[in-house]
This record gives sequence, C-alpha cells and structure tokens, in this order.
Amino acid sequence: MEKHSLAELSETEQRLVREAVAARQSAYAPYSGFKVGAALLDEKGVIHSSCNIEGADYTLTTHAEMGAINAMVRSGVLRLKRMAVAVQAKTGWAMPCGLCRQKIREFAAGPDVEVLGVNLDEAGNIREIYASTLEELLPYSFGPEHL
Ligand SMILES: [Zn+2]
Repeated sequence: MEKHSLAELSETEQRLVREAVAARQSAYAPYSGFKVGAALLDEKGVIHSSCNIEGADYTLTTHAEMGAINAMVRSGVLRLKRMAVAVQAKTGWAMPCGLCRQKIREFAAGPDVEVLGVNLDEAGNIREIYASTLEELLPYSFGPEHL
C-alpha cells in the first residue's frame, strides 16, 4: 500500500477521488455516523459513484462501494478499472470492508485494479490517500472462474 497526496495522482485518479468525496456528502449514516463515498471508473471510462445508506434495523445498510458497482452494472457495464473510497476514519485510513472487497473482485477488470483509500480530516479536507491493488486487499481470492 502506497501513500500519496492528491497532486501526485493522475488526472483520472484525481477525478475519482473528487467524485468519491462528493458522493460521501450524500451518505445517510445517522446510526454509525461513519459516512462513506465511493467512485469507480468502468472499462468504458465512465465514473459511477454512491454513498452508504443505513437503515434503522442496521441489516439494511448498503455500502458505498456496492452502490457504485450496482450503478455500473445497471448501466450495462460489468468491469471496473479503478475505485476511490472516501472516509473520515479515526485510525487515519480505511480501505473497503471484506464484503466490498469480494464485490469489487466480482467485477474487477483484473487483480491489478487500483483501490484508492481517501482519508479526510474533520473539516472534510483530504488528509491522505492510500493506493493498493485488489490483489493486495484480497489475496488468493475466490471469483467467478472458480465455478
Ligand atoms: Zn463495505
């Protein structure tokens, strides 16, 4: 996992980061208070974004990454090339949860798909960006080719 500043990223990566940060603004997280925004670049060059949406029973919560992937699939595209996820984590960084890693795996163009973890400070400004590959986040993974 590599640490970056926004300026070090490519123009496309910067767009993804900004879209993820913007999507986080729409998060509905009254129970956890943990707002998440995600944006992905599909194989056709289109960006899809989403946020987490919680429910009072907690089990109905949908994750930002899943929402962005669902939007991509709904548009008719099945492969993503990159994803950025924006959070404000107490630990200073956060990457997609295990469920989302598996969902990214399902639709990733390959194991080298880049995932950018964007950590925001309390004012909502970008503090740090961590870049990782899907292979690093989910080694020895299970996928469609195994069935
Ligand atoms: Zn998740």
